[in-house]
This record gives sequence, C-alpha cells and structure tokens, in this order.
Amino acid sequence: MTTLVRDRLHRPLHDLRLSVTDRCNFRCTYCMPKEIFGDDYNFLPKNELLSFDEITRLATLFVNLGVKKIRLTGGEPLLRKNLDVLIKQLAAIDGVEDIALTTNGLLLHRYGQQLFDAGLKRLNISLDAINSNIFGHMNGRGIDSALILENIDYVKRLGFEVKVNMVVQKGVNDSEIIPMMEYFKSRDITLRFIEFMDVGNDNGWSFKQVVTKQEILEQLSHAYELNPMESAYFGEVAQYYRYNNSRARIGFITSVSESFCSSCTRIRLSSEGKLYTCLFATEGFDLRAMLHKGASNEELCEVLKLLWTARTDRYSDERTEYTANNRKKIGMSYIGG
Ligand code: SAM
Ligand code: SF4
Ligand code: SF4
Repeated sequence: MTTLVRDRLHRPLHDLRLSVTDRCNFRCTYCMPKEIFGDDYNFLPKNELLSFDEITRLATLFVNLGVKKIRLTGGEPLLRKNLDVLIKQLAAIDGVEDIALTTNGLLLHRYGQQLFDAGLKRLNISLDAINSNIFGHMNGRGIDSALILENIDYVKRLGFEVKVNMVVQKGVNDSEIIPMMEYFKSRDITLRFIEFMDVGNDNGWSFKQVVTKQEILEQLSHAYELNPMESAYFGEVAQYYRYNNSRARIGFITSVSESFCSSCTRIRLSSEGKLYTCLFATEGFDLRAMLHKGASNEELCEVLKLLWTARTDRYSDERTEYTANNRKKIGMSYIGG
C-alpha cells in the first residue's frame, strides 16, 4: 500500500536517484579533476556497495512512499557489472512508472542492447562539446567526441529516448553552445544546458565560471526563435524551449540562476547505501548499516518516512559564494547528480 509523504516544505517524494558506483572512466575537470582523483584515490571497496537485491528492496520501500521515477547514475553507471540485471529487478517493481539512466555514453556500444532488452528506455547522455580538443580536455582523458556521437546514433537506432546534457563553463566550452545546438537540432534530440554547479568541494567553483540560462538565451536569440514550453509535471527540473520551425527542443537546468528547491521531489541513495535528501548535503543516513543489522521492512520504512518528513533542504535557494566554498558537501561522482 502506498503512503504518500511530504517534507517540511510540503514537497512530496517522487524521484529516487540511485548511484551504483563511485568510479568513472572519465575525469571531467568539473567533477573528478584528475589531480584529485588520481591512481591512488581510494574509491569505495566493491564489497561495501549495496547488492542488487538490497537496492531493489530499498527501491520497493521508496515506491511504497510515493516514488514513481528511478534514475540510475554514478560515477559512471555502465562500469557496474551486470547492470541489466538490476534494471530488470527495478522494472518489475509494481508502481515504478519510469526508469532512466545518466551516462557519459562511452560504453553504450557494448551495453546498449542488453540494457534496452532489460527494460531501460530512456538515456541522458552527457556531452560537453562537439569539438574534440575541447571535449578531450574537459573529460580529462582525451576521449574523442566522435565516439560518443556514434554511440548516441547507435542507441537512437535501438529505440532509446535520448536527451543530451551539456555542462557549460565560461571560457571553457561556451563556444560550443551553437555547434551543439545545430548538431542535435538536426537530429531532433533534446539538448539541455546545465549551469556549472558547486557540487562537492573539488572543482574550484566560482560564480564567475557559470554561464546562466539568460546569457545562453541572449546568445541564441540572434540566431533562433525559441518559445518557452509549459512544464510537464510538478518537480520537472528542466525548463524547455521549442524551436519555431522544428520539433526539437532545448532545455535549461538552472540550479544556480533560478533555483528550483521549492519543487524538489528527489532523494538520493549512494552506492554504499547512504541516503541524502539534497545534492549539496554534508551527511547521509546509513541504510546499509540498518540492512546489515537485519532491520525489517517496517523499521526501514519508518526511518525513510522520518527522514523525508523532517526534510528542510533548500541549498540552491540560499547559495552564496561563501557556502559554495566553505560548506563541506558530498562529491558529484559519489552521489551522481
Ligand atoms: N557519469 C555519468 C555522466 O557523466 O553522465 C553520470 C554521473 S554525472 C555525476 C551526472 C551529471 O552531472 C552529468 O551530466 C554531469 O555532466 C553532471 N555534472 C557533474 N559535475 C557537475 C557540476 N559541477 N555542475 C553541473 N553538472 C555537473
Ligand atoms: Fe565521470 Fe560523469 Fe563525473 Fe564526468 S561527470 S567525471 S563522466 S561521473
Ligand atoms: Fe533539491 Fe537540494 Fe537541489 Fe534544492 S539544492 S533542488 S533541495 S537537491
């Protein structure tokens, strides 16, 4: 039976983000700078990750509290072995309406088909530039954008619904806004611009490096006629605009310039089983410890309810240069965006 819960700011619980690994095959400068995430970096030991059965058990409890959408993320989620098995388990939970995955796309030629067959139908693929030099620099590993573009075409042919996410950083890849738009408009793929955020404490963030939605729209208004679209549901993160003469859309995720905490319906579970009620949290609640002590579903459910109903998070509403650089926050590659 579903028991709907609301937090202290009356926000319902609707989305569950599951990080399945903290490891990644990229070293994006804004997420896992290679100077910090080097060869000697201590990633979570594999035996400390939640098993697929544990994840599925917790996901089922969340669905009983109102969750309808599940997103798999990481680190790079395609690095988690047999991910298709987890997708099948999650897809079989009664009440799950949508399962999606966020990936850097590099391994999609290898796993795309099995993920599709397992029941995954939606992919968000991150790509920050078409220009290979810019992309190679940003991903920290010199990986060519052509590989990701080929994989995007491949998964479209498989039948996936695809959106592309581009983090825009001033002076780094803002020159790629128009080339990215042209490329994805011609393929009828939704491109979403993400404002560079101060997630974690490792990416040297400052307001000066953020390219805001308004700045991008101004740049685009010379070349395109764009019409704002109504939001499709409460808690939709992106704001969408449709081109006048095309079916394609672009979107903006404006965590910095127009925060959307008042409609934030998301909860996040790390790969080692810590639960976070905000992307910018400092501490998580250790659900894995409870699982390993033999907690019953009723006990777990009580705790989940308590954590959500006590929630007051609204970090982006309150962000300042001071909080961005002085508050201790979980890392993006650990929790997954
Ligand atoms: N590895 C996968 C990927 O890159 O798609 C999934 C995890 S990644 C942490 C999830 C999303 O967060 C990606 O779209 C990435 O570009 C975005 N991201 C990472 N660090 C960010 C930051 N500092 N500001 C804004 N977006 C960020
Ligand atoms: Fe890896 Fe994704 Fe972070 Fe890039 S953004 S380093 S691909 S986890
Ligand atoms: Fe939600 Fe926290 Fe982001 Fe606000 S800052 S939208 S509460 S995750």
